[in-house]
Formats: sequence, structure tokens, C-alpha cells
Amino acid sequence: MFNRVALVGIGLIGSSLSHVMRREGLAQEIAISTRSPETLERARKLNLGNEYFLDAAEAARGADLVIVCTPVGACEHVAKTIAPVLAEGAIVSDVGSVKQTVLDQMKPNLPETVHLIPGHPIAGTEFSGPDSGFASLFEERWCILTPDENSDPEAVKKLQRFWEKCGSDVEIMTARHHDLVLAITSHLPHLIAYNIVGTANDLETETRSEVIKFSASGFRDFTRIAASDPTMWRDIFLHNKDAVLETLGRFSEDLSSLRRAIRKGDGEMLFDLFTRTRDIRRSIVEIGQDTEAPNFGRYSKDEQ
Ligand code: NAP
Repeated sequence: MFNRVALVGIGLIGSSLSHVMRREGLAQEIAISTRSPETLERARKLNLGNEYFLDAAEAARGADLVIVCTPVGACEHVAKTIAPVLAEGAIVSDVGSVKQTVLDQMKPNLPETVHLIPGHPIAGTEFSGPDSGFASLFEERWCILTPDENSDPEAVKKLQRFWEKCGSDVEIMTARHHDLVLAITSHLPHLIAYNIVGTANDLETETRSEVIKFSASGFRDFTRIAASDPTMWRDIFLHNKDAVLETLGRFSEDLSSLRRAIRKGDGEMLFDLFTRTRDIRRSIVEIGQDTEAPNFGRYSKDEQ
């Protein structure tokens, strides 16, 4: 599909893209860049590309597809670095979890001769770095593309086909709409997980060790989410501020109602809510976004 694909940033998402591009034969050559010599050396050892650079511009030079796979806060710097060397007609995209900020940071800094089409694969794990990637990460997962009104439809179609070949279903929407939807489906749940695990950590030493020892599934599942990369998530909250604050406002109001129901002994209210939330879980399983297996499909120690 592409002659030269440049991956700027080679962590979980960048390395997964490299694996799947290799498996599907989507690029003649893959050029990799990352900011630290250690990560670059690791990428080379893992044979994730054909060429390796510490300078993003060297990787992007002559590429017909550049995918920025760094935390969203680095996009402006990357755009400024690669802009002078980009080939005419190249597609520039990214994988960041917030989209309006990517448009705002990159568009003014890129030449008009390239196609900027931001993207976000809704696929990930709590692990990071080049060792954590795998070829099937994007399979049967959504990838959202957020072109703007000036984007070239042919370039959008080509990027859509690329993600479909990586195994994803592609949906197209505006960057603002993406940010609002992801604020409730991903960003707020992460904030809640960071908060609850933080609260447990602040307990007195004795209680804290018991929380860890007896971590029942509720708390344990939060700790998995709260183990996600701190840099990536710091940038998400700083860059999707408005949408997160809006959903957080709604969440706090609903939490106050729950608190009142518990205080007043309003079992009916609690039962009604818990019945409605059960239906949401059922619909998620029905459309194949999760498994029905008990314990979230987690293997027991013997099965692993
Ligand atoms: P990661 O495993 O932590 O890898 C990050 C990469 O970006 C590394 O190559 C790192 O370079 C580089 N980097 C970090 N800070 C940088 C900076 N300030 N300037 C330039 N390069 C920098 O991250 P990831 O999980 O692949 O996430 C990458 C992007 O994908 C993020 O925008 C995230 O929002 C998005 N995303 C993540 C997931 C997920 O579940 N992880 C899912 C969907 C989308 P060095 O190691 O050399 O420092």
C-alpha cells in the first residue's frame, strides 16, 4: 500500500503497527524514530523497521505515510520537526487518544501539500514500550479517523483501507465529537481508576497492605487500568480538558444522588440503577466488544 512508512514513536502502538504492517505487507520499508537511544536500540534489536533514527525528520523524509505514535503533547514539536522534509502528497496521521488538540498542534505547522488525517485506534493494553506490541492488537477494534472539511477524500479512503488491513473497523467523525465520546468511554473511567487506587494508596500502612492482599475483583480491575502509562494519561487530561470537565460534572451530580440514596436507605433507586447498568453490559457483550466469560475472561493461574 505504501512505499515508505515512518513511525515517529515506537511504543505499544508504534510497534504493534510495525508487526501488523509486516504481517500484511502494507509497506515496502518502515522507518522508525524515537527520542531516546535506549528505545531506538530496543526497536532495532526487535527488528521493528528497516531504518532507525533519533531525528523524526530523517524517518519522515520521503515517506508516503507518517504516523505519529507519541503522547499527544509531543505532536506540535513533531510537526515542526518533520514539516520541512515531507514529500508532496504524503499522508500524515497519528494514533493519539485526543483528536482536536492534534489538529490544533499539527495543522498550522505542516505544509499544505500534505494530507493531515488524525486517527485513534480504540485498542490498547496497560503496557508500554516497543516490547509490548503485537500484530493482532487492532483486530476487531474500532479505529476513528477525524479528517476536517478540507481533507482530500481519496487520502481519507486510503488511510481507511490501511486500518482495515490492520484488522480494524473504521468510523469517521469530527475531532470534537470524538473527544466528547472518548471522555465518557475512556478518559473518565481512567480518572476514576487513578483516583480510587490513589485513595487506597493513601490509607494507613496497615490498611493499605490489606487492600493489596484481599484485592477483590472490583479493586483489582481498577488497578489494571491505573497501571497505564503516566505520561500518556497526563497528556490526555491536559489536552481533553473541556470534555473531561463536562463529563466529570455530570458524574459528580450522579454520584451525589447515589450518596443520598444510600444515606436515605433508598433501595429502589439503587436497584433500578444497577438493573439499567446491567443492560449496558449485556449490549456491550452482544456487539462483541467484550467477552461473556466470568471474571472478564481472565485465565486462572493453571490455565496460563
Ligand atoms: P508508549 O508505549 O509509552 O510509547 C511512546 C513513544 O513515544 C516512545 O517511542 C517514546 O520515546 C515516545 N515519546 C514519549 N514522550 C515523547 C516526547 N515528549 N517527545 C517525543 N517522543 C516521545 O506509548 P503508546 O502506548 O504507544 O501510546 C502512543 C500514543 O497512542 C499516545 O498518544 C496514546 O494516547 C495513543 N494510544 C494509546 C493506547 C494505549 O492503550 N496505550 C491506545 C490507543 C491510543 P522514548 O521511549 O524514546 O522516550
